[in-house]
Amino acid sequence: MKQSELFTKTTKDTPKDETSFNAQVLIRGGFVDKVAAGIYSFLPLGHRVHEKIKNIIREEMDRIGGQEIFMPALTPKDVWEATGRWENFDVLFKLAGADKKEYALGATHEEIVTPLVKKHVFSYKDLPTFVYQIQTKFRNELRAKAGLMRGREFSMKDLYSFHASVEDLGEYYKLAQKAYFKIFERCGLLDLTYLTFASGGAFSKYSHEFQTISENGEDLIHICKDCNIAVNKEIIEEQKVCPNCKNKKLKEEKAIEVGNIFKLGNRFSKDVGFEYTDENGENKDVVMGCYGIGPSRVMGTIVEVHHDDRGIIWPDEIAPYKVHMISIKKNEEAEKIYNNLRENNIEVLFDDREEAGAGEKFADADLIGCPIRVVVSEKTLKNNSVEIKRRDSEDAELVGIDEVVGKISNF
Ligand SMILES: [Zn+2]
Repeated sequence: MKQSELFTKTTKDTPKDETSFNAQVLIRGGFVDKVAAGIYSFLPLGHRVHEKIKNIIREEMDRIGGQEIFMPALTPKDVWEATGRWENFDVLFKLAGADKKEYALGATHEEIVTPLVKKHVFSYKDLPTFVYQIQTKFRNELRAKAGLMRGREFSMKDLYSFHASVEDLGEYYKLAQKAYFKIFERCGLLDLTYLTFASGGAFSKYSHEFQTISENGEDLIHICKDCNIAVNKEIIEEQKVCPNCKNKKLKEEKAIEVGNIFKLGNRFSKDVGFEYTDENGENKDVVMGCYGIGPSRVMGTIVEVHHDDRGIIWPDEIAPYKVHMISIKKNEEAEKIYNNLRENNIEVLFDDREEAGAGEKFADADLIGCPIRVVVSEKTLKNNSVEIKRRDSEDAELVGIDEVVGKISNF
């Protein structure tokens, strides 16, 4: 992509009505545009990052047997009444249709997915089964001030698992935890993210959140260094020890909730009469679990924890482009290098703008935060080379033009 053709521009001005760091820097870099509090458009650079995060999640859900579907965002009132959540779901976005019927914009999809899977699953032979979607969700939040971390409209992957037994759910629950940590590893959040014990509801003692330590986090967690797990605020109020080892020395940290998983048991299957026939021909309730992770919130979290005072430092796998190439002055050689990188399937944003000065180009590269910066100047070309620097390092090196592709591929 040539930066001269990119319709978005960066800006030095911090948006006045935006108090969250992630949204400020994402708006300045031209990744997102704020439409209203908690509502954002994703622009070309931001859309690429968002899609990459979704694809990582998709790959890891497919790996644990997930089958992708796509359910509607607009959902009728009666399905919510069947589970008692039309009145009890505090942030449900409700609206009236022209047909005088009421609807909710989906905040979660148990009400849709449970009757759906019931139409196809009848016997123990059909279980377990796992379905998920990556979809836009809505929450009628009173306040939405945390940028992409708490939207009124946001993206969500929600997987639902259906089992013949509590034991089978327990095994899958552990498998899902591993898949989540694989996602956080690929998104550059592994070292800061803790499996966090939260209250479980009627069916199990605990549910689990995935909390990423961040100074701008809205949650407080208490970390047990011995077990490498954490407990959230409501659990700490009930019991002041680690649920694993009873350790009392827990460290308090601010954190962002990037995912959560929940054993639902028969909470929803009972409401819609979802039973299966077991080996002995007896009818039993289907046992369920649900597993959420928000790609847009993950994106905001990555910005909160991977930046310096010049801008974002994207982890390699989710950067909008792997390489940000800068030519100080327009020249044919830079064009050739750009084409060569693209022919070798290296994603590159090429700052070919003629009106921008070197300082402005360097500042933009730091703000946008691609992992590798390549500079082509008269000086480097005299040595038949380019200058290569990682965004997360201060050390630049000269690399021969013939070696650029190999060097970048191995970075
Ligand atoms: Zn512990």
